[in-house]
Amino acid sequence: MQEWEQKMDKNQEEFNKQLKIREETINKLTSEKKNEPKPVKIVKDMFKSFTGNNCHFVPEKHDRIVCDSCYKCPIIGDRYKCLSRHGYDLCNDCYQIMNKTEPFLLFKTPSTISHDRLEDILPYVQILIREINEGKIKIIYND
Ligand SMILES: [Zn+2]
Repeated sequence: MQEWEQKMDKNQEEFNKQLKIREETINKLTSEKKNEPKPVKIVKDMFKSFTGNNCHFVPEKHDRIVCDSCYKCPIIGDRYKCLSRHGYDLCNDCYQIMNKTEPFLLFKTPSTISHDRLEDILPYVQILIREINEGKIKIIYND
């Protein structure tokens, strides 16, 4: 087995472990107890309906995105993409401990733009963001 395959397996394991912990926490928080006051029951029911299939508690998985510091793949949780370096992504752990001097894009959920496509348009995105920040371009939200 290749090293990157082992890392992927390990990351999947970690993902499953996190998922299990979250499920257990939800069960613990929403399980019913005897003689519980009604408001508590209502809040628990609301919580259950919100978390339905635990969607709010599942860490996001950025498929095929490799952290360029620890080489974890896929990146689970927040993904940070450097705006000034080509093809440079970081996982949350590495981003937090890193000395940052460059701007980064934070992806809370997997990008709908493919990795390669994003690399292609990144130089233009950089220019666009800079000109927005400099006030040369303004976004007009007509909603
Ligand atoms: Zn990392």
